[in-house]
Amino acid sequence: MTTQTPKAQSSVTASEPGLRLRGVSKSFGSVVALQPTSFDVPAGTLCALLGPSGCGKTTTLRIVAGFELPDEGQVLIRGEDRTYDPPQRRRLGMVFQNYSLFPHMTVAQNVAFGLRMARVNRAETEARTRRMLDIVHLPQHADRFPHQLSGGQQQRVALARSLVTEPSMLLLDEPLGALDKNLREQMQFEIRQLQREIGITTLLVTHDQEEALTMSDMIVVMDKGRILQAGSPTEVYEHPRTRFVSEFLGTSNILACTVAGTESGGLRLRLPGDDRSRGFVVTDTAPRPAGSTALVAIRPEHLRIEPAAEASIGEPRAVVVGHVFRGATHVFRLTRPGLERPLIAYRQITGPVGETALPVGAEVALSWEPGSARLLEDEPLREEAA
Ligand code: ATP
Repeated sequence: MTTQTPKAQSSVTASEPGLRLRGVSKSFGSVVALQPTSFDVPAGTLCALLGPSGCGKTTTLRIVAGFELPDEGQVLIRGEDRTYDPPQRRRLGMVFQNYSLFPHMTVAQNVAFGLRMARVNRAETEARTRRMLDIVHLPQHADRFPHQLSGGQQQRVALARSLVTEPSMLLLDEPLGALDKNLREQMQFEIRQLQREIGITTLLVTHDQEEALTMSDMIVVMDKGRILQAGSPTEVYEHPRTRFVSEFLGTSNILACTVAGTESGGLRLRLPGDDRSRGFVVTDTAPRPAGSTALVAIRPEHLRIEPAAEASIGEPRAVVVGHVFRGATHVFRLTRPGLERPLIAYRQITGPVGETALPVGAEVALSWEPGSARLLEDEPLREEAA
């Protein structure tokens, strides 16, 4: 997004996390908004708090910002305990969904606001404001008022205003929620690039899994006031530990399989409704008793389908019950005996779009890369096991 970059702001030692939460919890009356929660955000990285409405992500952000005091636990920013510091002492940059620009000030005055409050001298204020406007690609709009800008431009002004003071951390609370899809995607890339260039530790609150996957170094998936899983986007997407994480981060086929036995490399499982075939193996897992039910997640992009007539005899069969064309992919819905819900499989479109060779009613063979089926930790619900 930029050719000029302000100096890297992280003066912390490499080992010191940019943000550390230690056993932070918060209740509002009888509502437990946040159970004791601990995680580290490495300095200079972007961490997304992702989860459904009410999961506690805004409460976590507000505790980091100093707008709420935790009931217990500590908040360390660049190694310093800030738990009881008021917001202004924490030196944080913040951007919210509604921009909160001052309508009666120009773009330049909005950006310069924090510097004026900090009594930075006039020449330096002008220089830093100009440099920030260059970085967010708005130098030509310095004299406009917020209402004369598009939503994306207003959000860039908000970013510039929060970064110009060289804060110790950046907090983003659903910053792109008000923008339409295309602009949101563009801004995701822009913010990500800017964050990397400046090297500022950033906490992003979002309920949009694509946004979290696109923008983050690390995703913390939350539900009901607790962390379900934390890791890099590929880790939580490709190695979800629970059904909730697997389904919240995109589409997932959840299969209640039967454990056929333990093998040296892992567990041999059979698909629902299949008591004869050899089944398939999931690796890296603790032993489970033969005959028990185990939940497995397979992403639609890992499920391969081909006409049954062309497949080897051993592969499990399914029948196409629906098909839609979605631009870059064909999306198939498939069924087979013993399944509670249809399976979803994606087929990438590589050449010119033609008729799919797999119409509704076609029998197909199913396969997937060994290793792309993930054993989940959840106990199956009774109807899944039935
Ligand atoms: P959303 O995406 O809807 O903002 P969230 O994941 O950010 O949700 P929080 O705002 O952190 O969730 O809320 C967590 C829980 O705490 C919810 O049940 C919410 O109703 C409750 N809560 C949050 N703030 C307060 C408050 N000031 N008083 C009472 N309950 C609150």
